[in-house]
Amino acid sequence: MSEDEKGANVRSASGKRYASMRAHDGGELNAGAAGNAGDAGDGANESASADYERAEEPAGAEANANSRRVKQPMDVSRRSLLVGAGGTAALLCLGALRYAGHNPLVRPPGGQDEERLVSACIRCERCYEACPQHVIVPAHIEDGLLGMRTPALGFDAAWCDFCAKGNGGVPLCVEVCPTEALMLPEGAAAESTVLGLAVIDEAQCLAYRDTGCRYCYDACVDAGYNAIELSDEGANPHPRVIADKCVGCGACESVCVSLTTGSIASGATERAVVVRPLETLREEAWS
Ligand code: SF4
Ligand code: SF4
Ligand code: SF4
Repeated sequence: MSEDEKGANVRSASGKRYASMRAHDGGELNAGAAGNAGDAGDGANESASADYERAEEPAGAEANANSRRVKQPMDVSRRSLLVGAGGTAALLCLGALRYAGHNPLVRPPGGQDEERLVSACIRCERCYEACPQHVIVPAHIEDGLLGMRTPALGFDAAWCDFCAKGNGGVPLCVEVCPTEALMLPEGAAAESTVLGLAVIDEAQCLAYRDTGCRYCYDACVDAGYNAIELSDEGANPHPRVIADKCVGCGACESVCVSLTTGSIASGATERAVVVRPLETLREEAWS
């Protein structure tokens, strides 16, 4: 066989191997060797073939290993995704559970039947808008998912006078409610409706530090209830709520200055006098 024939055979063999190699490895492996095989002389072809010979065996094994290696991370990755998704779902459920609870609230007049209020209220906000005292606030998600955005009373800066001034004592919130979510019991008068009960925290009350504070007492007198009495202790009397007289109007809470005048320093997070929902008081009485 002539030298030319030998070279042609080697080229032909190398070309076949290259074709086989591309087919086997998806066209990726040893592209440099392909160029060599097609264009270079015998030495180069021999070298390319030798390269390929060395590469072929390991390449097959390596390709399998690669396919395993490629596969494994995908499996782990999928598993991780599933575990992650499961964990996220569990956390969401736990988060939802946190808000699923029911936090008793002081409700506007006619909203004392909690079950009816929550199920009948369509969150139309008409009661908020109608309230001349601007004392109605929406319940937050922290108060319970089911009751979110139902009307509650916030006594930060206002109190409920049962619309004595705004509508002759007929609660406007009840009047405008389209679904009877707010509805006074038949025959009940607004002013005899009990919204809650004021409770004084003596540890936070400034009067119990003998400061002479009596804002809550004065507010209750002005509201016409006289539901707070002062102990006869000289110049620094201490206020006490007369439960039978308190209607939970919030006048006392709305003027309490304890948070702005010192009790934050002693760890207080709310005012020294706060109107508690009747539901809370019932639960405490049973526990
Ligand atoms: S009774 Fe009147 S003042 Fe009281 S919450 Fe209703 S609208 Fe407001
Ligand atoms: S007016 Fe009635 S239905 Fe509308 S937000 Fe107030 S309580 Fe709910
Ligand atoms: S909530 Fe009770 S104690 Fe406070 S001002 Fe109203 S009636 Fe008086």
